[in-house]
Amino acid sequence: MPEIQGAIRVLRAKGYKVTQPRKQVLKVLTQAQKPVSPYDVQKILQQRGEHLDHVTIYRILDLLCLLNLAHKVLLSGGFVKCALGDEEGCHRFMVCRQCGAFQEFADKSLCEEENELAWHLGFRTEQHFSEFFGLCAKCQG
Ligand SMILES: [Zn+2]
Ligand SMILES: [Zn+2]
Ligand SMILES: [Zn+2]
Repeated sequence: MPEIQGAIRVLRAKGYKVTQPRKQVLKVLTQAQKPVSPYDVQKILQQRGEHLDHVTIYRILDLLCLLNLAHKVLLSGGFVKCALGDEEGCHRFMVCRQCGAFQEFADKSLCEEENELAWHLGFRTEQHFSEFFGLCAKCQG
C-alpha cells in the first residue's frame, strides 16, 4: 500500500520495527475520513476479520503520535494520520463545528511567538497543542 510507505520509512529510520499491527493501524488511519478512536480502529479491523486488542492499539497510536505520524484531535478525542509530513512548527487543527471537517496546518512563526511569550513567563515550551474551532469555508454561507 503506497500511502503508508512514507510512515514505514520514518518508523525504520527511527529504529522501530515495522510490525504487522503497526501496519494495520496505519492503514486504518490512512483510509479513515474522520478522526477515529481506538475503539473505532478495533471495529474497522474486526470488519476485515483482523483483531488487535485495545492495549496494542493504544500503544501503537501513542507511538505514531510521538513520531508525528499521527495526531490526536483534541476536540473529537480521535486520531488522524498526519497530513503534513515533516513541515516545521507544531501541527494543529482547525475543526468545523457544523460539519466536523478538520484541516491540519503548521506555522513556524506562530510557534516562535508562543515560545517567546512562554519564555517571558519563565517557561520552556517543548510542544504546542491548540485547535481552532469555528466554521469551515463551506459552512459559512
Ligand atoms: Zn501533522
Ligand atoms: Zn463545515
Ligand atoms: Zn510549536
